[in-house]
Amino acid sequence: MPTGTWQTSPLSATDRTRLDDLFRMLKDESSRFLGYPCNRNFDYSELARFLAFPINNVGDPYVPSNYHLETHAFEREVLAVFEGLTQAPAGETWGYITNGGTEGNHYGLFLARELYPDGIVYYSQDAHYSIGKVLRCLGLPSIMIRSRPDGSIDLDDLRETLRIHRDVPPIVCATIGTTMKGAVDDIAGIRSLFAEFALGRSYLHADAALSGMILPFVDSPPAWNFSHGIDSIAISGHKMIGSPIPCGVVLAKKINVERIARSVEYIGTLDTTLSGSRNGLTVLFLWYAFHTVGVEGFRAIIPACLEMAAYAIERLFPLGVAPWRHPYSNTVVFRRPSAEVTSRWQLACQGSHSHLITMPHVTREQIDELARDMERPTSLHASCPITDRHPSTAQPSDDDIVLVGTSEHDLLDEVSQALAEAGLSIEALTAVAVDEGSVVRLRVNDRAAALRVLNQGLDAGREYGRASTEPGDRALDLLSRIDYQQAAPNSILVRLDDRPGELASVTHQCHEAGIRLQAVRFLWRGKASAVIELNGNEPERLRSLLVNRVILN
Ligand SMILES: *Cc1c(COP(=O)(O)O)cnc(C)c1O
Repeated sequence: MPTGTWQTSPLSATDRTRLDDLFRMLKDESSRFLGYPCNRNFDYSELARFLAFPINNVGDPYVPSNYHLETHAFEREVLAVFEGLTQAPAGETWGYITNGGTEGNHYGLFLARELYPDGIVYYSQDAHYSIGKVLRCLGLPSIMIRSRPDGSIDLDDLRETLRIHRDVPPIVCATIGTTMKGAVDDIAGIRSLFAEFALGRSYLHADAALSGMILPFVDSPPAWNFSHGIDSIAISGHKMIGSPIPCGVVLAKKINVERIARSVEYIGTLDTTLSGSRNGLTVLFLWYAFHTVGVEGFRAIIPACLEMAAYAIERLFPLGVAPWRHPYSNTVVFRRPSAEVTSRWQLACQGSHSHLITMPHVTREQIDELARDMERPTSLHASCPITDRHPSTAQPSDDDIVLVGTSEHDLLDEVSQALAEAGLSIEALTAVAVDEGSVVRLRVNDRAAALRVLNQGLDAGREYGRASTEPGDRALDLLSRIDYQQAAPNSILVRLDDRPGELASVTHQCHEAGIRLQAVRFLWRGKASAVIELNGNEPERLRSLLVNRVILN
């Protein structure tokens, strides 16, 4: 035994119990870990013996240092794998293993600031919260750009903003897989804006914390990596790969890094990294993952995750929570369920949305159990502003207005025109049209006025049943006809601006084109816009008719 060994007495019984309790809690909670993008399917027990050394990867991974208890050689191998995955040109990037996505973003934007001290950073509303913090740390001026409803950066807003600041080098921090909706910012679009305004001095950092380990394994992914013109990228290691200690990677163009490197005599190496002392153990985890699961293993795991996401959508769809995802993402967004459910399943929430992320450890059984929890009467979307449940099981709430019509008339079109003419704004809506008839259930900002308008319309000869809050058996029966399972693949999401008459203009366009809308419902309603989901009898024609409004698929 070396002298002065630090563990002089064994743990007390009380302390041991505390650790046992903690262990039990972690084990229990990790069986319902659906909301955060951290893979818990890993086994690094073979590496436990390395806990015996004060491993420290201080300094630049490519430069030898005086500190020899390090894993730099392994780090360089891991970096080489990430270079391959991000299509970095051979020998032209530099990087290191970070403490996570945040440090990678910090490094990328630090590099950008050193290159363009007079630059302005542009990032979207849906960017990760780490970006705002990093910008404060770096003292960089920045402008937040609007997001589109699908979570990606709004290029029109970016264009207008760049136009105003043409004299300043733009530093764009693009999100490759937004935290809430899994959206990928349009890299090609951003670069064409640089070209449009002849912005030669520009920088493009990619925050690819989760999706940087998904997109390499997706068929025809959107542009996201070095081959598409990014200057640096941050990816988390503990997300898709999985690690008991958070970690990540940052890669940047070597030519830029060399311009800012400084050497330090004390450690005998280049001080190129943000942290001084760096974790050399997480390097071993990542190396181990790439040498056991391997890149080929991830090539199988990622499609399985996407399939599980598709399964989750199929399973949640009948619950009326409007689940959706980007085709390249395992993040499934849906209407926020009760606090009880979000806490039990550790679902991340933002406003009226929640999401689950089908990481490799997520099973069908867990999704089924979540769905059962969400179906329970006590768990009915209590915290959600729009209460739209499965029509066949839910009684419309007191605030709802229900109308029933025949199949010969376009009930939805008539109702939305009538409300638009009266300047009334629709807050929630579900509509079904089948051969046996049609029904519209809706909520408006002024219910009394809406009832008056709709019943006047009826008296004036409109062809729908009396608007009422008593849905009756016929309405409930019609509402139950909608086949959500079948409808899901054909549905399109359409954006409405927040103006009275927006829905009316969509329904009328369909009516004029002879497309029958079989199912319509409001997914969500923001301050400036709303997203509705449409199913029509001719999905392709519907899609092309509304192409300017379609936000997904
Ligand atoms: C998780 C995440 C981050 C932060 O990564 P950490 O590894 O938690 O520091 C940054 N950006 C996005 C888009 C993320 O999803």
